[in-house]
This record gives sequence, C-alpha cells and structure tokens, in this order.
Amino acid sequence: MDAAEPNDGGGGRDAAGRVPPDRCRPAAVGELPAWLEPHRPLKPLWVCAGCGDPWPCAVARLLLRARHETDRVRLYVLLTGVFAQAARDLYTLNPYDTPRPHALFARFVDWSDPRFR
Ligand SMILES: [Zn+2]
Repeated sequence: MDAAEPNDGGGGRDAAGRVPPDRCRPAAVGELPAWLEPHRPLKPLWVCAGCGDPWPCAVARLLLRARHETDRVRLYVLLTGVFAQAARDLYTLNPYDTPRPHALFARFVDWSDPRFR
C-alpha cells in the first residue's frame, strides 16, 4: 500500500503521525476507492461485481477494514455516504421489499463501527 496515495480512502499518516494535507480533503460522498476491484458494488442493485453477494461482500469488508486499520472513523464516514446512496437506489427500485432502514444501516455501516476492533 502506498501511504502517500492521495484521497484513496485509506488512513495513511506521515512519520510524525500527522495526516498529510492532501489526505485531509474529504472524499466525495459515497466515493469508493479503485482498489476494491473487482469487489465493487453494481449500482443501483448494490450487489458485488466480483462475487455477486450483497455489497459490501465479505471480501470488500476485509479490504475496507484492512485499508482503514489506522483510521476506522474515516471508514465509518465513507460508508455512511455509501449507505445514503444505496438507500436511495434500493428504495427507489423496490420500496416494498427492500430491508428496513436499520437493516440496511447494519449491512452498509454498522459492521465497521470504529468503537469495536
Ligand atoms: Zn465480492
């Protein structure tokens, strides 16, 4: 992993433990990093392009968790934006059979809760 890669959704810090200025810039809401390939969501269905499981699949969760090991709050914020996009897409496509909001939140965000390691 390249800790200096700008705006990649990772948690890289410099040798003094500071977040480099280019990393302070927030990613666009819900923007997912390219290193998730091929385990990226197929929108608007939100299934994994790599394995077909509901996204985030197990591999995507492992990749996201590993990449954000030093900055779990950043992962939580990233996934909160993704959750908003997914909720909009899924409820627009199928407002009656899409899981309730708390279940969608658990699927997209809560598994990454930064308070638990
Ligand atoms: Zn997958």
